Amino acid sequence: MRTSYAIGVDVGGTRIAAGLVERKGRIVKDAKALTPKGGPFAVVDAVIDLAAQVSAGVHQGEISGVGIGLPAQIDFARQSVEFCTNLPLAGVDVRALVMSRSKYQVTIDNDGNLAALGESRYGAARGVRDFIMITLGTGVGGGMFVAGEPYRGSRGLGAEVGHMVIQLDGPACPCGGTGHIESYLGRAALALKGREIAATFKGRAILEAAGGDIDTVTAEDVIKASLSGDEPATRILMDAGVILGRSLVGLVNLLNPQMVVVGGGIGEACPFIIERAAEMIADEALAGRRDVTVVQAELGNDAGILGAACLAFDEYDSREGLHR
Ligand SMILES: [Zn+2]
Repeated sequence: MRTSYAIGVDVGGTRIAAGLVERKGRIVKDAKALTPKGGPFAVVDAVIDLAAQVSAGVHQGEISGVGIGLPAQIDFARQSVEFCTNLPLAGVDVRALVMSRSKYQVTIDNDGNLAALGESRYGAARGVRDFIMITLGTGVGGGMFVAGEPYRGSRGLGAEVGHMVIQLDGPACPCGGTGHIESYLGRAALALKGREIAATFKGRAILEAAGGDIDTVTAEDVIKASLSGDEPATRILMDAGVILGRSLVGLVNLLNPQMVVVGGGIGEACPFIIERAAEMIADEALAGRRDVTVVQAELGNDAGILGAACLAFDEYDSREGLHR
């Protein structure tokens, strides 16, 4: 039987959001909660509670299942959480715990892969068979589509676009590596640049955006100053665009994608990071690969819920032998 709905759950470091989603991608009901700090079982309880809230009153047979996106490295084939820096979920069998206490089939995946899945079905990459997704936020994540399917690698741990080495002796990355994209383009890295400028005479607008306290300058303050026309703040973000573009040249040469989709809170707040990155790729990628388009993601705050719901639809359809 073809179901009408899926439940998508987006688990973040600060917030968990769930939605009841129609096959066409409309979120008919949603619910949010702060991510509990009380350990893994509190997080699982919150997921179960939100899933129950959004599905209340809908017949069980109408719902394909629950998709859950986690900010974690996930062995997709085994459905296990291997590493998770921001939440205490490594080694926790999230899928089995949620499934044992809800009526639905549950599938988990990395949030970057799900952002790509959501954009491919409902967003900027509709109908695009080969694309790279990169999400700029607290972390830098991503996903890849190759020949119309998500590419996750041998165990599902792949497509970590944010953790490619771009400088051999670069700064430490939160993942423990060195010189990764995230160590240049994550929220913390942009905030650090903002604080460096705010400490000089050029940093008045950034300092003002942060309420006058250098220690509290965030990436969002840099964006705010830039949008009000501040040149030094804009320079920080232009430089970020150059780093983004140049670090994607290798992937573009390797995979020859049709499109690069830039999402995440920072990516979506800052169109000229994307414009600058597009210029770098056009300048530097090998001939024949320069026609790649670089676009902003379209799903915004709903990306996590929609991508997770897509996963639940796809898993249901493949169990039932249905085709998209
Ligand atoms: Zn890293």
